Amino acid sequence: MRLVVLPGDGIGPEIAAATIAVLRATSARFQLAIQIEQHPVGHESLRRFGTTVQPGLLEIVRSADGLILGPTATFDFKDENSGEINPSKFFRKNLDLFANIRPARTYPGLHNRTGAFDLVVVRENTEGFYADRNMEQGNSEMLVTTDVVVSLRRITRHCCERIARAACQLAMRRRKHLTIVHKANVLKIGDGMFLDVCRQTSAGFPGLAVDDILVDAMMAHVVRNPDRFDVIVSTNMFGDILSDLTAELSGSLGLGGSLNLGAGHAMAQAAHGSAPDIAGSDVANPFSLILSMALLLAWHGERAGSARFELAARAIEHAVENAIRSGRATKDVGGNLGTAATGEAIVQILAANDNGPA
Ligand code: NAD
Repeated sequence: MRLVVLPGDGIGPEIAAATIAVLRATSARFQLAIQIEQHPVGHESLRRFGTTVQPGLLEIVRSADGLILGPTATFDFKDENSGEINPSKFFRKNLDLFANIRPARTYPGLHNRTGAFDLVVVRENTEGFYADRNMEQGNSEMLVTTDVVVSLRRITRHCCERIARAACQLAMRRRKHLTIVHKANVLKIGDGMFLDVCRQTSAGFPGLAVDDILVDAMMAHVVRNPDRFDVIVSTNMFGDILSDLTAELSGSLGLGGSLNLGAGHAMAQAAHGSAPDIAGSDVANPFSLILSMALLLAWHGERAGSARFELAARAIEHAVENAIRSGRATKDVGGNLGTAATGEAIVQILAANDNGPA
């Protein structure tokens, strides 16, 4: 398996280094023959090459078996014409990575505010309110006068159908419960279509229980009773916000793993941002990117028909559980290790075969 790693900005290089250490250990233990190729993106690339995403990088990623993208400082990147491209948008759009799969679950031994739960947010990734990706050319946020801004949201039947199908298929492999999160009481046409298409699509999955909740009420429901949810499908921005909440409710935003999926490509990417407030201080939790990488290995294993990749993914998830339970983790999840030492703890757990479930 050939993987491209783009470490990114802020805490990106620290959590990417820990993730690569775990990847190498996993490859050795499960004989996965993983080859890793690294390139700069974000500020480092802008400094060195005048652009946050070098020309040619898309083809390199296209020809690889998967991409691991660290968080990037998207807020800093204002003008694409000056090379300030949002790398996350760039790969999601150009590789048509329409489904953002964001699991959130609690861990034995880790205090959380709500009690145990295990759910997945399935977020549409290619349109909605994300002005930088929902137009063929240009941007859908416009300065009409210096005091007037118009931001357009795009919702298409095609994108609703494919995200609904991805969510239904995932729910059928889990506890067979799908919750549609929307705002069709106000966005009657756009979210109305999203809701209708999700309902129609889910009707093709016998045995799947389906309900729907307005996004504002969902914030209360998911804090009150997260264990009532299994798979949650939503449009781009609602899913983005909701999944930060579910990651934090599980114990820390630093546990938010995520996989961006298209028909032929996948990109592992932590749910959180570049965390400039803690960058360079060896305190960032690397589990989000490590768990994202495990999702990527499982995806590859399923496509390639290789049980070893799926076993490796499971072993990494169990090693993370084990590390949290035994306090070999960063402070945000109850441990006292730094970022690098937390990655090393996972390597040791994997090497010791000490990775049984809690
Ligand atoms: P953030 O997600 O970076 O940080 C929010 C809070 O969570 C901060 O207190 C941070 O210290 C903490 N945190 C985040 N990741 C952590 C981890 N692994 N371990 C421990 N604590 C962690 O959000 P922000 O500060 O609003 O954004 C910073 C930058 O990241 C901005 O430029 C934003 O645009 C960008 N961003 C990028 C992505 C991405 O690349 N996918 C996603 C979201 C935000």
